[in-house]
Amino acid sequence: MLVNVRDICAMAEQNNMAVAAFDTPSLEATRAAIEVAEQTGYPVILSHAEGHDPFVPLDYMGPTIVNLAERSSALLCVHLDHCEHLSYMRRALEMGFSGAMYDGSFLPYEQNVENSHRAAEMCAAFGAGLECELGSMGSREAGSRDEGGTAEESGAIYTNPDQAEEFVEKTGLDILACSFGTVHGLYKGEPHLNFDVLKKIRKKTGVPLVMHGGSGVSDDDYRKAINAGIRKINYYTYGVKYAAEAVRKLIADAEAKDAHAVLYWHDMTPVAYESFRKTFEDVVKVFANGAAPLM
Ligand SMILES: [Zn+2]
Repeated sequence: MLVNVRDICAMAEQNNMAVAAFDTPSLEATRAAIEVAEQTGYPVILSHAEGHDPFVPLDYMGPTIVNLAERSSALLCVHLDHCEHLSYMRRALEMGFSGAMYDGSFLPYEQNVENSHRAAEMCAAFGAGLECELGSMGSREAGSRDEGGTAEESGAIYTNPDQAEEFVEKTGLDILACSFGTVHGLYKGEPHLNFDVLKKIRKKTGVPLVMHGGSGVSDDDYRKAINAGIRKINYYTYGVKYAAEAVRKLIADAEAKDAHAVLYWHDMTPVAYESFRKTFEDVVKVFANGAAPLM
């Protein structure tokens, strides 16, 4: 069933857990994410990022994910990830998305407040929940590429807790993406998360918080972040990396047996799907933070 992003994060709040938000710009990832939610009983957020349109356009993926989520017995939210254009957000909401992220973190503060407020009004009109971002996690998913590295290298700026309090009040957002040491893309070495910043943001705002750049973080840091108020964790990069590695292994194994082995596309998609399913199941169970299944 389709659940508002605000409500799905409220469920996470009640159970001191985080909901996994998987970007699913392929049928393999979409199917894996839905089946993991159905089989584990934990809620899952299926996301489409504006920056993933070159992989598969919103016009194809949006109605597909909404339809599948509505028909599923699991608690599912269909969420727009890293949207920088309100006209694009309207298209997703018209398709039935139950949540959206407006990302104005690259704009001057006042402009971010103004656009985020307009996004809140638009989401409210469609009965959807809104996520906004303050601070910067460096390279952007909605931008041309995810550069990764360390928080410093990627130009990340920690969210200011006092500014976050004002930002939440002025915009009317439901959940807040904040920067406290995670980055998008692949990490070079261990990520260093600043839990003091996170706890201060939580204390000042009181809203469910969102961790971006969630893949590549240790299980211990996930637990600490969840206990400090993180209710939605975006997980993308490592899931697609593992799926690609599984396909590469399939090709390498086939060629090791027969240098002229013929492989078809339909030999590869089930391998990718199986990789996504395993990764997502592991992730969902860690993010549950010991909470019992909700379904
Ligand atoms: Zn992100």
